[in-house]
Amino acid sequence: MQEWKRYKLKVAVYYSNDDVRLEERPVPRINDGEILVKMMASGICGTDVMQWYRQKKAPRVLGHEMAGEIVEVGKDLNNLNSLNGLNCSFKVGDRVFVSHHVPCYNCRYCANGDYTACEALHTGNYEPGGFSEYIRIPVENVKYGTLLLPDNVSYEEAAMIEPLACVVLGQNRIGIKKDQTVLVIGSGMSGLMHIQMAKSKGAKVIATDINKYRLDKALEFGADYVFNANEYSAENLKEINTGNLAEHVIVCAGAKKAVDDAVSSVDRKGKILFFAVPEGDINIPSTRFWRDEITVTFSYGAGPDDLKAAMEMIRSGAINAKKMISHTIPLSDIQKGFKLVSEAKDSLKVVIIPD
Ligand SMILES: [Zn+2]
Ligand SMILES: [Zn+2]
Repeated sequence: MQEWKRYKLKVAVYYSNDDVRLEERPVPRINDGEILVKMMASGICGTDVMQWYRQKKAPRVLGHEMAGEIVEVGKDLNNLNSLNGLNCSFKVGDRVFVSHHVPCYNCRYCANGDYTACEALHTGNYEPGGFSEYIRIPVENVKYGTLLLPDNVSYEEAAMIEPLACVVLGQNRIGIKKDQTVLVIGSGMSGLMHIQMAKSKGAKVIATDINKYRLDKALEFGADYVFNANEYSAENLKEINTGNLAEHVIVCAGAKKAVDDAVSSVDRKGKILFFAVPEGDINIPSTRFWRDEITVTFSYGAGPDDLKAAMEMIRSGAINAKKMISHTIPLSDIQKGFKLVSEAKDSLKVVIIPD
């Protein structure tokens, strides 16, 4: 019998940001067409530490940025029909990234390419979650959400595929053009990915954050100007932008001031993308936004095409995934990882690895 079959696996169960407990569970049994993956890297997402959002469903195994090695394949795996052209003839030993959420390819949203609106995408998941030694991948996720990793993409870099894919989707929604001005509010992980991607499109990028370490990182990843968010006002932006406001504002922070700064910094006909939201509702000055024809939009998650695009950006080096990983922490020390991410100070991507 293989080592993992008689083994009780370790999982990290989330109760709150400072109460993530290691528990033991039996290794999940896989069914026909499913696969079992040994977690090799699993990123902690900013949304994992949004306690007001996560605690509603706690206790729960989080983790949705996972890459690993296939250790068991179910029967009939090679008879699966993938509708999106993905290869699903996987075998033991394959290195893969697995998406936790996959669309159904059947509903009216999917027919329109709006995969992130698909009900199946919001409800499905792998078992028990990414912060676990072994993970059962249901048939749908095998068919529509499992990508073979190119040789030059490490497991840790692959943990960046999902977060980067969300950035791809968000920026596709606003359509940044060369020489436009983009203000990125919040220079944590998602902000830094937005900065890199906006720069790759030839935009002028201004970034804010309340933390000095992150402002330095923003400059390192290509921002043209940075401001301390506590002191920032739209006047600062005009001063360095020939008197103009920003065509695009991307909100990557959950503070109330982030919303105020977005509202005051967006130019006529400009767009605000809420990549992160504060707790509670957002107030928008509708009269001004009507007259100035400002678009306010949101993005949540990523679709299969975004995941493929993100993997390609990492593979080709268009986005430096490795440089964004500040900490790799063994599963048994996961509480330390949650502390780093929730403090949002001197850390970038925190990736959980096996013990
Ligand atoms: Zn995430
Ligand atoms: Zn659907």
